[in-house]
Amino acid sequence: MNHDELAHWSKRAADWVRDYHAGLRERPVRARSTPGETAAKLPAQPPEQPEPIADIFADFDAIVPDAMTHWQHPRFFAYFPANAAPASMLAEQLANAIAAQCMLWQTAPAATEIEQVMMRWLRDALGLGPHFTGTIHDSATTATLSAVLTMRERALDWAGNADGLSGQPRLRLYASDQTHSSVDKAARIAGIGQDNLVKVPTDAALAMDPAALDAAIRADLEAGFLPAGVVLCIGGTSVGASDRLDAAIAVARDHGLMAHVDAAWAGAAMICPEFRPLWQGVDRADSVVFNPHKWLGAQFDCAVQFLADPVDQVRTLGLRPDYLETLDQDEVVNFNEWTVPLGRRFRALKLWFTLRAYGLEGLRKRIRNHVAWAAELAEAIAALPDFEIVTAPALSLFTFRYRDSDEETAELLRRINDDGRIYLTQTRHQGQFVIRVQVGQFDCTRDDVMCVHQVLRDLA
Ligand SMILES: *Cc1c(COP(=O)(O)O)cnc(C)c1O
Repeated sequence: MNHDELAHWSKRAADWVRDYHAGLRERPVRARSTPGETAAKLPAQPPEQPEPIADIFADFDAIVPDAMTHWQHPRFFAYFPANAAPASMLAEQLANAIAAQCMLWQTAPAATEIEQVMMRWLRDALGLGPHFTGTIHDSATTATLSAVLTMRERALDWAGNADGLSGQPRLRLYASDQTHSSVDKAARIAGIGQDNLVKVPTDAALAMDPAALDAAIRADLEAGFLPAGVVLCIGGTSVGASDRLDAAIAVARDHGLMAHVDAAWAGAAMICPEFRPLWQGVDRADSVVFNPHKWLGAQFDCAVQFLADPVDQVRTLGLRPDYLETLDQDEVVNFNEWTVPLGRRFRALKLWFTLRAYGLEGLRKRIRNHVAWAAELAEAIAALPDFEIVTAPALSLFTFRYRDSDEETAELLRRINDDGRIYLTQTRHQGQFVIRVQVGQFDCTRDDVMCVHQVLRDLA
């Protein structure tokens, strides 16, 4: 395949994409494949000779779409969304075609500077204080890992980077039981250890109890441990729990600890001023992560980390071997020094396209609709016989249960997802099996959302 053929097939691909999207509502949301089914359709060995793109494309069409769960389906209400607004897809095509490795300013000046400007646009759009700067990671997991590594090094006065962790005091991290497993993973990878991630109890509102946080830190100090930082959550993955940042960050500050806020999903909603009370106090955080690739429409992957002061993170993660030295490096930002991987994709381009093509007002309107429709749907489900709303909508996420039974709720979920009109997933809340509903598909309609109510009526 050469570049002329690429141009031809790219047009074919664009038409394919249009038809795929137009036909999504006709497809079951969740894949119906069985394990091994796709692999069995592929030859065991790679071809020795080149094959025509027409054949490859035909096989793609025959094999792939039917064996995918359709994340862009307007009736996908599972997990959290991974939205790909059309404008962001276009930007990804261009970024893929330029195919730059954006590790240094010099290797990609436009990518670096558009990233800097996008970080300012997003900071202001979310109502964050002007002291924040930001960078783009592949995932919230990596952003949280970066923050945890920085907590570790700050607590050890950078001795961990130099000497390793052997012989160092035992470090401790704090997070509520509602925080995402990425915090546990960060504790593992950072060498702190999962058992040194203290899960602080939450109150009736599912927010971390600040007095319990304070008590846990004091007890650890007394026991000779070295507290390193606190990870707080806004819009937790299970049922959308949020900590009270004001109170929790005040405790962290009293003990000189860093505070990192995981708002991977809910952060996007902060473009609407009326939702900002949810993260009141965020301006005192050291680090905040949110995923534009979830609710904002910037195609996966794109996770933004805001930093009150990047110096500590750059000191933790940044390295300048001889082969990465550039002449002008004191005047520019080399974003690889802010993140775990050296290589970086040109992710800022899709933010630029997305923010411009829909405007903040267009994005706010979608999020407001989703929140309003989730509330309407929850109310309609509550009115059905044998259904109970277990956690009320947190923004656009709520959970429900059927006949107050784990078995019946799980059986209903199986039937819902075999039916295929919608896709829902489960979690456990206070020991009970519950079904989650989140509303957040970029171009879903009120009818798509109310379809959940219809499906429940049909299948219960
Ligand atoms: C989705 C999510 C994550 C993980 O995000 P990745 O970008 O997939 O690593 C972490 N925390 C919360 C609250 C999330 O919703």
